[in-house]
Amino acid sequence: MKHIWTVDKTVKSPFEDRVIPEATITEYLWKNLDKWSDKTAVICGVTDRKYTYFELYKKTEIFGATLRKKFKIKDGDVVCVMLPNSPEYPIVLLGILTAGGFVTTVNPSYTVYETQKQIISSNAKLIVTDPSNVPTVKEALKQSNLSMPIIALDFDVDRPEETISFKELINDNTLDKDVLKEVKRSAHDTSLLLYSSGTTGLPKGVELTHRNMVANCEQQYEKLIQKFDDTTASNQDIALAYLPMFHSYGISVVALQKLSAGLKLVTLPKFQPDTFINAFLKHKICCMYLAPPTVLFLASNPELSSKHFEKLKYATVGAAPLPLADVDRFLSKVGHELHFGQGYGMTEASPLVTISQNTSKRYNTVGNALPNCELKIVDSDMNALGPNELGELLVKGPNVMKGYKDNPKANSDVFVDGWLRSGDLAQIDEEGYVIIADRLKELIKVNAYQVPPAELESIIREHPEVFDAAVVGIPDDKTGEKPKAFVVLNKNSRLCDKDIIEYVNNRVAPFKRVKEVQFVDNIPKNPSGKILRRVLNEEQAK
Ligand code: AMP
Repeated sequence: MKHIWTVDKTVKSPFEDRVIPEATITEYLWKNLDKWSDKTAVICGVTDRKYTYFELYKKTEIFGATLRKKFKIKDGDVVCVMLPNSPEYPIVLLGILTAGGFVTTVNPSYTVYETQKQIISSNAKLIVTDPSNVPTVKEALKQSNLSMPIIALDFDVDRPEETISFKELINDNTLDKDVLKEVKRSAHDTSLLLYSSGTTGLPKGVELTHRNMVANCEQQYEKLIQKFDDTTASNQDIALAYLPMFHSYGISVVALQKLSAGLKLVTLPKFQPDTFINAFLKHKICCMYLAPPTVLFLASNPELSSKHFEKLKYATVGAAPLPLADVDRFLSKVGHELHFGQGYGMTEASPLVTISQNTSKRYNTVGNALPNCELKIVDSDMNALGPNELGELLVKGPNVMKGYKDNPKANSDVFVDGWLRSGDLAQIDEEGYVIIADRLKELIKVNAYQVPPAELESIIREHPEVFDAAVVGIPDDKTGEKPKAFVVLNKNSRLCDKDIIEYVNNRVAPFKRVKEVQFVDNIPKNPSGKILRRVLNEEQAK
């Protein structure tokens, strides 16, 4: 075990550093293709549509060459992917990267308003989406006066008008792939543009390079934190991919990392209790990555008993605080020894930063820093703190983003002397175990999804009868938190809470919906105009 705390109060990872290959994420993924080319790479947990590793590779190349040749995608062009999880998601993503472009992922539950914002901000050139989302995409383009090709994933449904068939594109085996020789991409180019509000304000485009993604995959190969059986002719571990691939956790930790290790991914388009249980049992899942509400679901579902969990050997929970009562219930239901622990991360760190060790039973912690990762705890003046002292967590490592796209102000706020500010309140003990105590940043997490208060506030303030507004997260047993709005109305306005709720909810995805409204005379602010959310939280708790 390495020395963890240094004299300048930097916390080192207890694990040996990994060598991070200087490669793009596609080069990294395909380097072991020969070892498992005829094994299933990805299968749909609902329809059973599937691809072997070799098919995945081939279809990725075809899609990449098509994007380059027919759709004129050039190095560094952005392609928008608005899809639920499916076996084709990795083909779409890796195909765009193979073509030299990079990907911005959009949550398929987004409204026209939210989709439009991301299309404009990312400067996308083309969209790949699901037939059910085509009307939203078309309306978003129309309202932005934009026009671009829409490729529709038309597998079990008809292709909508004015869209291009993805199925036909990837089945075109005659396509000349020479065009891919022109692609010039290095490890330091952007691969993913994901959106996160970071420590404050509106969602911003997080630029993650190929190297960031490769690093985060490689950092998880430490055998003290994750041990899968090697994929061989007679063996393949199977992971459930229900976490959405539009989020960093689903795409990086679950999809890309497991594909780099030759596992079989079972995809689910969304979380639905019956399809989740069916896929879990049918595919004999041995590896699961979960968000906290699913731990509660598994622990409390009467249809599941210990015999259903016999194959499960690895489960990691992350993305939001995990109630310890749910852990006890889940583990007693599983009834056998397994690697169970927490991971902690953030989109800006590709995302994984810490993870529990195989043998650790310290479930109240989020484990230790990954290999190649360094941590620091600081007070509000950025002075480094020591073991067990509470302060803001800072992160450094090869997985930390290049920066927010076109946003020097946000970058200068979030980076301090090369350290990434997490906006989370944490403490680290002598052995390097991290406890996340609270969130300092302005972020609400509903079912582990980001709900930036600033986004809801700006929508409420757009209402002609609203003078001011502030939104905070309040506790919710099922979803972790839910948004509550404090609203100051214009004089003589007769709006009621339902009017505000309806106004917001028409513009945002279901998970961002405001659940409560309280009318107030003013919003508490500090002298520079910053909302005093703690005061509102205290008001709420009364
Ligand atoms: P995102 O960028 O959507 O992944 O959100 C990152 C944020 O989620 C972190 O900064 C934390 O506030 C929160 N988070 C992630 N993992 C955990 C965890 N294991 N425990 C508590 N909060 C977490």
